[in-house]
Amino acid sequence: MTLKNSGIARIPVRELRGVGPRLAARLADYGVHQVEDLLFHLPLRYQDRTRVTPIAAAREGDDVVVEGEVRVADIVFGRRRSLVARIQDGSGTLTLRFFHFSAAQKNSFKPGIRLRCFGQVRRGGSGLEMFHPEYRPLEGGERAIEQALTPIYPTTDGIGQNQWRNLCGQALARLQREPPQDLLPPGQHPYDLARALEYLHAPPPNAPQQLLREGRHPAQQRLALEELVAHNLALQRLRQHQREEGAPAMPLDSVRLEAFLATLPFQPTGAQQRVLAEIGADLALPVPMLRLVQGDVGSGKTLVAAGAALQAIANGYQVAIMAPTEILAEQHRASFSNWFQPLSIGMEWLSGRLKGKKREAALQRIASGEADLVIGTHALFQQDVRFHRLGLVIVDEQHRFGVHQRLALTAKGAPGQGKPHQLVMTATPIPRTLSMVAYADLDCSVIDELPPGRQAITTVLIDNARRDQVVERVAAACGQGRQAYWVCTLIEESDALQAQAAEATAAELRLALPELAIGLVHGRMKPADKESVMAAFKSGELAMLVATTVIEVGVDVANASLMIIENPERLGLAQLHQLRGRVGRGSAASHCVMLYQAPLSASGRERLIALRDSCDGFYIAERDLELRGPGEVLGTRQTGLMEFRIAQLPAHSHLLDEVQVIAALIRQRYPELAGALVQRWTGAKQAFGNV
Ligand code: ADP
Ligand code: MG
Repeated sequence: MTLKNSGIARIPVRELRGVGPRLAARLADYGVHQVEDLLFHLPLRYQDRTRVTPIAAAREGDDVVVEGEVRVADIVFGRRRSLVARIQDGSGTLTLRFFHFSAAQKNSFKPGIRLRCFGQVRRGGSGLEMFHPEYRPLEGGERAIEQALTPIYPTTDGIGQNQWRNLCGQALARLQREPPQDLLPPGQHPYDLARALEYLHAPPPNAPQQLLREGRHPAQQRLALEELVAHNLALQRLRQHQREEGAPAMPLDSVRLEAFLATLPFQPTGAQQRVLAEIGADLALPVPMLRLVQGDVGSGKTLVAAGAALQAIANGYQVAIMAPTEILAEQHRASFSNWFQPLSIGMEWLSGRLKGKKREAALQRIASGEADLVIGTHALFQQDVRFHRLGLVIVDEQHRFGVHQRLALTAKGAPGQGKPHQLVMTATPIPRTLSMVAYADLDCSVIDELPPGRQAITTVLIDNARRDQVVERVAAACGQGRQAYWVCTLIEESDALQAQAAEATAAELRLALPELAIGLVHGRMKPADKESVMAAFKSGELAMLVATTVIEVGVDVANASLMIIENPERLGLAQLHQLRGRVGRGSAASHCVMLYQAPLSASGRERLIALRDSCDGFYIAERDLELRGPGEVLGTRQTGLMEFRIAQLPAHSHLLDEVQVIAALIRQRYPELAGALVQRWTGAKQAFGNV
C-alpha cells in the first residue's frame, strides 16, 4: 500500500476561515497542525439540541432545550443577589437563575417575550430551575433548531467550544473531497473511515445516545480499533528500539543458583521455578530482556528477583533494584542482605535521605563496581548516580512508576555494553486486556501459585456503627497472642491529615484498651522512629499497630493475623487487596474486617463484596477495571499512558485480540502504515515515539 502525500493530511489549519497566527499557534500546542488533525480531535460527549422539550417533560439532571414566554423577571436578594426569570410554555413553568448579570440583561426579559433556553434542569426552591442557561429571544417565526447532536470537544484555555465546532465543521466540509487515508490494511474493517468521522462529529438527531455514551457505536469501535492499533505499534516500536541496542549476554550459572536455593529454608514453588527459568533464558541472550512478572501479594516475587540478580552478578554485572517507597526498599535490603551476604556479594543502598559523606561514599562504590547490587528508591535515577557495569534493572511495584521512569534507569547502562536487561514486578495483577494495551512492550510471566501452608484470609464487612464490638473482639484476639493491624484511610493525599487521623485513632484505642501495647506508624514520622516501631511490632512487643496506608506494600510480619481497615470504601480494590495481603503470611487463620461507613454507594458496596468473596488478585483486578476504569487500576493517570482519544477500557476490550492481529500484519506486510498511524494518533503527545 502506498501512502498518499497529498489530501487533507497536508492542508495546514491556517487555510481555514478564521484561523490567524495566534489561533494556529494555540492549535499547534494542542497537537493540531493539519486539517486532518481536526478530524481526529473527537468529541467527548454530546448534547441534544435537536428538539424542544415541553417544560413538564423535563427531568432533573437532563440537558434540554425549552421554549417559553417570560412571565416575570426580578432581582432577588437572597444569600446571593440573583436575577430570576420565570418562563412558561403550555405545559408548565421553569425558573431561570443568573448570579452574574447586567442591567441590560434584566431589561431584556420583558414579560411576554419568548425565549429558547438550553441548560441543565435542576430542582430548586421554586420547582424546576436552570442556572445560567444559554438563551436567545425567539423573534417572530421559529428559527430552525440544530440538525445534529451538539459535540462537546476536549479543550484547553483559549479555544472555546464554538471555535472547535466551527473548525471541525470546516474540516468536515472538506472531508468528502479530500478524505483522509484509511491506514488499516485492506479488508480489516468494514466501516468506512470518513463515514465514522462524519458520524462522530455530527451524529444525526436519532443517533442512539446510550450506545454513544458507552462507546459501543460501530463508528466509535472503528476508530477505537485504529487508535489501539496505533498505540500497540508505538509500544512495539519502543521495544524494537530497545532491542536494537543489544544487551550483555549473561549465561545461567546453575551451580551458583542451586547453591543459593539450597541455603533457603523452603523450596521454590513450581510457579517460581517456571518464572526463574523464563528469566534465566532471557538474560542469556544478547538482547535486552523486557519482562513483567505479575504475582499476587505474598507469591514470592522477591526470590525470583534474587535469582535474576544472582545470574547477572555471576556474570560480572551490577544490578539495580528500585522500589517505590522507603519501607519497601528497606524490606528488600533486609531480605537481600540475609540471602546475599553469605555469598560475599557487595551491596549498596541509596535513598532520598542518604546525604553528605555517606552518599558520596555510596556513589563511589557504585561507580567503581565494588557494589554488585544496589537497592533504593527513585533516588537511583538521579543524575549523579553512575554505574560501572549495570546489566540488570529490577523495578518492583511497577504500577507506580511510569514508562519514562522505567526507561530513565536503563539509560544508565555503560556505553558500548548495550542496554541493561529489565525486570518489572507488580503485585497488582493487571487484567490481561489491560496489560495487552499498557505493557505491549513487555513479555509477561505470572506467578500463579502461593507458597504452601498459607491460610486463606476470611474477610467480613461490618458497619462502623458496630465499632465497639469490633474493638472488643480485637482486644480478645490480641489477648490470646495474635497481632493486629488497624489501618486508617483518608482520601486526602495530604500526609499531615492522614497522620492526624491515625493519631486520633491510636489515642482512642489506647484509651479503650489500656492493657494492650499499641504502636503507631505513619508517613510523617522520622524514618528511624518508623523503623523502631515496625521492629517492635515484628518482635511481638506491640500487640497492635495503628497505621496509615504506608504499610500497603512490603511489610512482612508473619504473626500478624488480623487486620481492621477503616473506611475501606475510600480505597480502590487493588489497594485493599494489597493491604489485606499483609496478614495471612504465617500459618494462623487470618481475618480482615472492613469497617465501612454506611450508607455505601451501590458501586462501593459491589466493590467490597467482590473483595469479601474472593482472594484472587486477578479476579479482583478485573472487577476494579470494570468498576473504576484503567487509570485507577494502573495508577498512571498522570503519566498519560492511558489517555486515549476514543478507545476506552473495558468497553473496547473485545477488540484487543484483533488489535494484535492487525498490528502484527502491519509490521510484517505494511510497515509503511505504521509510522503514519502512530503519527496520526500519538503525534500530538509524542509520548511513545521519542522515548
Ligand atoms: P511478594 O510476592 O509479595 O513480594 P515476598 O517475596 O515478599 O512476596 O514473599 C512473601 C513471603 O513468602 C516471604 O516471607 C518469603 O520469604 C516467603 N516465601 C517466598 N517463596 C516461598 C516459598 N517457595 N515457600 C515458602 N515461603 C516462601
Ligand atoms: Mg514484594
